[in-house]
Amino acid sequence: MSGPRPVRAPRGTELSALGWQQEAALRMLQNNLDPEVAEHPDKLVVYGGTGKAARDWRSFDAMVRTLKTLKQDETMLVQSGRPVGVMQTHEWAPRVLIANSNLVGDWANWEEFRRLEALGLTMYGQMTAGSWIYIGTQGILQGTYETFAAVAAKKFNGTLAGTITLTAGLGGMGGAQPLAVTMNDGVAICIDVDPRAIERRIEHKYLDVKADSLEHALQLAVEARDARRPLSIGLLGNAADLLPRMLAEGAPIDIVTDQTSAHDPLAYLPSGVDFDDMQTLAEKDPAGFTARARESMAKHVEAMVGFMDAGAEVFDYGNSIRGEAQLAGYERAFAFPGFVPAYIRPLFCEGKGPFRWAALSGEASDIHKTDKALLDLFPENESLHRWIKMAGERVHFQGLPARICWLGQGERDKAGDMFNDMVGNGTLAAPLAIGRDHLDCGSVASPYRETEAMLDGSDAIADWPLLNAMVNVASGASWVSIHHGGGVGMGRSIHAGQVSVADGTKLAGEKIRRVLTNDPGMGVIRHVDAGYDIAESVADEKGVRVPMREG
Ligand code: NAD
Repeated sequence: MSGPRPVRAPRGTELSALGWQQEAALRMLQNNLDPEVAEHPDKLVVYGGTGKAARDWRSFDAMVRTLKTLKQDETMLVQSGRPVGVMQTHEWAPRVLIANSNLVGDWANWEEFRRLEALGLTMYGQMTAGSWIYIGTQGILQGTYETFAAVAAKKFNGTLAGTITLTAGLGGMGGAQPLAVTMNDGVAICIDVDPRAIERRIEHKYLDVKADSLEHALQLAVEARDARRPLSIGLLGNAADLLPRMLAEGAPIDIVTDQTSAHDPLAYLPSGVDFDDMQTLAEKDPAGFTARARESMAKHVEAMVGFMDAGAEVFDYGNSIRGEAQLAGYERAFAFPGFVPAYIRPLFCEGKGPFRWAALSGEASDIHKTDKALLDLFPENESLHRWIKMAGERVHFQGLPARICWLGQGERDKAGDMFNDMVGNGTLAAPLAIGRDHLDCGSVASPYRETEAMLDGSDAIADWPLLNAMVNVASGASWVSIHHGGGVGMGRSIHAGQVSVADGTKLAGEKIRRVLTNDPGMGVIRHVDAGYDIAESVADEKGVRVPMREG
């Protein structure tokens, strides 16, 4: 019987698989479950409420075993976290193909998903949890940083200095919020019901201090704001109680958002429930718990709308909290926008998104070398220089050292090619796994998040992520995944991921150039098709072919 045990990816150059492509998949699967990386490794949960890397420990062991013996012309098939087959393919084909949490349209709801999960037939893959390219809280840090920078540019003369941001959720992804705010020189009050989440963020240097009470948090925040000093403050409590209270008391808040796991009502603590009773209650009465969680989310969102009415900048941070509040009957739930249409879409039009790479050597110096090489490769790119410098100084690595860096069309392929050369010529100690979040420019259909308010109304068209997965398979990615649900919950999104391994060979170089041109290229064509001018200019400039513009 296999069961929970600490998992850690091997480091160094000794292979336990038959090649680096398989070894990379093996190490990244194990890395996702490293206690330093995963939020609840004993339950195989990596982040995002219930996002898992493998269905159960037996499936995990079977995947490890299979990856160790998988040949260069074989492909392992993974169905919702369980390896279900090995097929003979060819060396340009991915070594692993993954489909997680997919259900047929009319059945794609939490009730049916949970019924099937209880039967052991599926698992929730979130985005990078079930596709083995989660790199810890850093993975969302730059996106969060860029989002707050866009808020600063829109409303606060380009800096958050002198402002207070209020948010909740200090989990795997939400934990990036405090650091993203202080990187923009602002003050953040971050609420969480779990004392361990607060402590973990302090330990990992994402959060500065913990307040003893709401009054203490406000006092610390106001002092720092008045001194224009960046500071992030953790506050223990339930956001559904604290936000309405802060609104009623006239707390001086400038920006409000939220990153509790609202997309999954069983992962949001309802008001009146003790944190320690959360799991038992959710298991005992999922329907009752869901109803109470939604009611609390309605109160939480109502307070967010109240802050907006009082003049604060308010946005949904991609966790479906508006949708859940609406289900509980709150009519103004969609009064504030999602972060993508508000701040991020222009970047998507340029094919930009959360590009990332992990050093399979386990050596931090490999990442520092790639940082330096990237600065030399793009000497003119000021925002990239600012980001890489700040990340180098302030980001604490979790598990295998890694870096996130938003790059666009015409940039990702250059970076990937250079990284592969650095592996080939021995500058780096071992190969790199190069991938991205599913939250990318051309890889997701998600009407409450990435594709909210598309210019042509195509928000719910899900052909794009499927084409994205297929083009990555056809271009030579090392593993490719298609998931349902992800960050916004069952029934609300379909998205795809890819990881390509730079092992320094000529073949890897050829694959990487294609994948890292075509993958962001999907973002460009998706936004050209929807009628975005910026995407048209990028297509012209970078030579992205769009047949409907050629006639
Ligand atoms: P997580 O499960 O690791 O953390 C969620 C945190 O919320 C936990 O620490 C939990 O204690 C806390 N929480 C739950 N109910 C609460 C309440 N009522 N009051 C205060 N705190 C409460 O999840 P995560 O990985 O941090 O993701 C958070 C959400 O953000 C998810 O819905 C996820 O899908 C979404 N997400 C957004 C983006 C984005 O780009 N904006 C990216 C990834 C994930």
